[in-house]
Amino acid sequence: MNPRVVVAAVVDPEIRVLTIDDLGILRSVEEDPATGRVVVTITPTYTGCPAMDVIRADIRRALAAAGHPDAEVRTVLMPAWSTDWISEAGRAKLATAGIAPPASTRTGGAVPLTLAVRCPRCGSPETEQISRFGSTACKALWRCRSCREPFDHLKAL
Ligand SMILES: [Zn+2]
Repeated sequence: MNPRVVVAAVVDPEIRVLTIDDLGILRSVEEDPATGRVVVTITPTYTGCPAMDVIRADIRRALAAAGHPDAEVRTVLMPAWSTDWISEAGRAKLATAGIAPPASTRTGGAVPLTLAVRCPRCGSPETEQISRFGSTACKALWRCRSCREPFDHLKAL
């Protein structure tokens, strides 16, 4: 099986609806033509997320199962990952799972945009933050003032 396909299907251990490809942390998958050894390059997400060790192990395990037993996983810190790297497909999956996707950190002009966090259930922008930390450190807990449901919001970075 194509190692790129195998690695792209590895899911994030904290946000299980997203693959590492959806998250945008998968930089490259290359095969050394001489040795056949697979080299995977990833960029970590939020610092302090303990998920990266799990992701590294999951990548190696998935590749070993697909016939690439001695894969190497490299970490590249620059450029730093940002929530802007989450794919459109990934944002749609987050919303379906009831997690408000992060707002874009790109301003696009001189005036910074303040984007409301929309409720993933009813779409209302009438929301408020309850806690800076949700079910994991990467998420904040929010509540919708329209439907009164609490929801996780993936913090923008
Ligand atoms: Zn709502």
